[in-house]
Amino acid sequence: MPLRPLAYILTVELAAVLVMAAFLVVGGSDRGWGVVGLLFLGAVVHAEAARHIERVRVSRPDRAFIDLKSMWTFAGLLLVPAGPALVLVCATFAYWWLRNGRHHSALYKWVFSCATVVLGTSAAGLVLSGFELDTLLERAAGPAGLALIAAAACVRWVVNHGLIVGVLLLTTRDRSLRAHLASPADTLLGLGALALGAALAVLAAASPWLVPILLVPVITLHRGVLLDQFRQAARTDPKTGLANGAAWAEVAGKEIARAGRLGLGLAVLMVDLDEFKAVNDAHGHLVGDEVLRAVAAALSAEVRAYDAVGRFGGEEFVVLLSGVDPGAATLAAERLRARIGSIDLAVPGPHGSTARVRGLTASIGCAPCAPRDITVDELLAAADAALYRAKRAGRDRTITAAPTRPDVGTPISGTPPTP
Ligand code: GH3
Ligand code: MG
Ligand code: MG
Repeated sequence: MPLRPLAYILTVELAAVLVMAAFLVVGGSDRGWGVVGLLFLGAVVHAEAARHIERVRVSRPDRAFIDLKSMWTFAGLLLVPAGPALVLVCATFAYWWLRNGRHHSALYKWVFSCATVVLGTSAAGLVLSGFELDTLLERAAGPAGLALIAAAACVRWVVNHGLIVGVLLLTTRDRSLRAHLASPADTLLGLGALALGAALAVLAAASPWLVPILLVPVITLHRGVLLDQFRQAARTDPKTGLANGAAWAEVAGKEIARAGRLGLGLAVLMVDLDEFKAVNDAHGHLVGDEVLRAVAAALSAEVRAYDAVGRFGGEEFVVLLSGVDPGAATLAAERLRARIGSIDLAVPGPHGSTARVRGLTASIGCAPCAPRDITVDELLAAADAALYRAKRAGRDRTITAAPTRPDVGTPISGTPPTP
């Protein structure tokens, strides 16, 4: 691992060890171990009940992972001194790793994750200790108690999440903060687990025998982690990571409506690789798939962030360009073709040798459109017809269809339609 992330990780871990030692020595470790034991038991039951969910759940390495066992440790923080609560954090992490994490996640990642939760929990502990009242129930008696618990939960979330986003910024190629933050759905889940932790603490203090009732909503919430993942999967083409046809059409429909409102032109490009079958025949389908991924990456890199790129099917891609006139759309299509032409991939050849895939060409049908009522399907049909003409005219070219005109007047751009 490069030095900077390594130093970051070790610093976080060292800080966690020191803070935990300080809390155990200064913050009192002479009571609360019975409650810690019971909460650990709850976390064990939770881990066992959620095993199948955790197996299906895919950890995306570029995003903060939502930690649902936090409800047990957050309840611990509200019920016992911070020292024993931090020991509970480490114990649940160790158990969870043994049962759920061992096979698909490296130990060092869990150790770091655990350190971030120790620090987040410590910061939340400091928020809670700012009050002079002794027990949680006294604290929670009025609105101040609610505010205190909410503040502690938020601090824990922000510190934990912030430290993980920090390491992602240092270790992944994408340097934009937004790419690494948890999605709104994941944030809600993470905060939901902490809210359940608060409810658990109150219930455990009042009537510990009722705690098992909470396991039902806990498992239900846990199933929720899959929801975002499934929703994402349903919209994504697994081979290239682009939007699939349905998801692209949905985005395109919204964009067409928006462009209509704002009086902007737009264009749909249909991109089809030329003689792609020959690539498969020469190098095999796995290499063909690799080429498709390279083309997808090239298309995404060449257009603006708000232009929608999708995989329409096979070796056909669709691109929606917003706010362009026919001339600009044709230029963009030519840029895309040049970019595809510059792909040069080293791929496995026969008998362990290396072969190269390069000199790819594509035909593009470009359907520009003035702002007016038009459906995605109409634009796709126009782009498809133009693509068909490009293929018949000898491939390796862009053909731009006559812009679909507004119902009254002339095309919005001054550019004459390409014949
Ligand atoms: P043309 O210039 O007329 O477009 O020729 P082509 O060979 O690209 O077109 P055709 O539509 O006849 O064939 C498309 C080929 O794309 C057929 C198939 O081998 C390949 N293909 C489609 N989907 C995939 C895929 O997911 N992976 C791989 N490796 N190949 C695919
Ligand atoms: Mg083709
Ligand atoms: Mg095709």
